[in-house]
Formats: sequence, C-alpha cells, structure tokens
Amino acid sequence: MEKFLAEWHLQRIGRWLTLFGYPTKIVPKLSKEEVLRCSFGRCTVLTTSKRWLNTFNRYKVSYLILPNTEDWKTQLCMVLRHFNIQPQLKLNYCTECLTELKPIDREEVKGKIPYFSYKCGRNFKVCPKCGKIFWIGGHQKLMVKSIKEIQKRCSELFG
Ligand SMILES: [Zn+2]
Repeated sequence: MEKFLAEWHLQRIGRWLTLFGYPTKIVPKLSKEEVLRCSFGRCTVLTTSKRWLNTFNRYKVSYLILPNTEDWKTQLCMVLRHFNIQPQLKLNYCTECLTELKPIDREEVKGKIPYFSYKCGRNFKVCPKCGKIFWIGGHQKLMVKSIKEIQKRCSELFG
C-alpha cells in the first residue's frame, strides 16, 4: 500500500520519496476514486491544487498542498519536513511498481548491472515483480550528489 498519492507532475519527488522508504503512487490525474483510497489515513495525497479540498475534508483524507513550482527540490523538502522524513536511501520499495524489494546475493546480479557496481556496490535488492535491481554504492554518484543537493536545499529552507 502506498504512503503517498501524487499526480504526474510530482513524479520526481514521488520517486525520491519511494527511495527514502515511502512508496508513492503516481497517477496521471487525481480522481475521486483514487483520492478516496487514501481516506482515514490510509495514505496522504500530495497535490499543488486546492480543487480537492472539499473532498479531502468530507472524506477525512490526509493531504499536503505544495506550491505549484518547477522547483521540485523545494517541494520535496516541504514534504520531508512536514512528515519528518530523513532524505536517506532506504531502497525497500521498487520505484517502478512500488513492490517491496528482496535482498539478492552479489553473485546473482553479475552481468545484470555494470561491472563496477557489481564489484563495488552493496545492499543489492531485486524487485520480485518487475525484476529491477537496486543497490547502494558503485556508480551511484549522481544519486549521492542529488541527495546532497536535496539536503543542502532543505537546510537553506528550514535550517
Ligand atoms: Zn518493480
């Protein structure tokens, strides 16, 4: 079950939230049916629009309204702060299908991911549903760099 539900234009922060251990379902457009799946605290709707406010209140749906901006890092920091989430890689849910990941041995990922990552990575995990492989270390410089940038932005915003 997802922790957050968000619209297409918030997919970037949704992906990070999933990597941080909070699976986020991305839908092309919010529908009443999707929103009601989150009622009674089952999940939280992330949106940039106020048009669902009445529905949220009437059906006790938890929600967070974010500023409508291209600045996804600020949006992400607001979510992290509001829900007290640490920007740390948890790698426990697949970013593609939100299935819980299973640990996998290093030898089993050989040939399926870049050699350097096979050699230098750790915490290998596989998605039992779609087969996507995740790991920490190796060639994940971009990811580490992005997390540093996210942390920097969050401390600029909120100290
Ligand atoms: Zn998957």
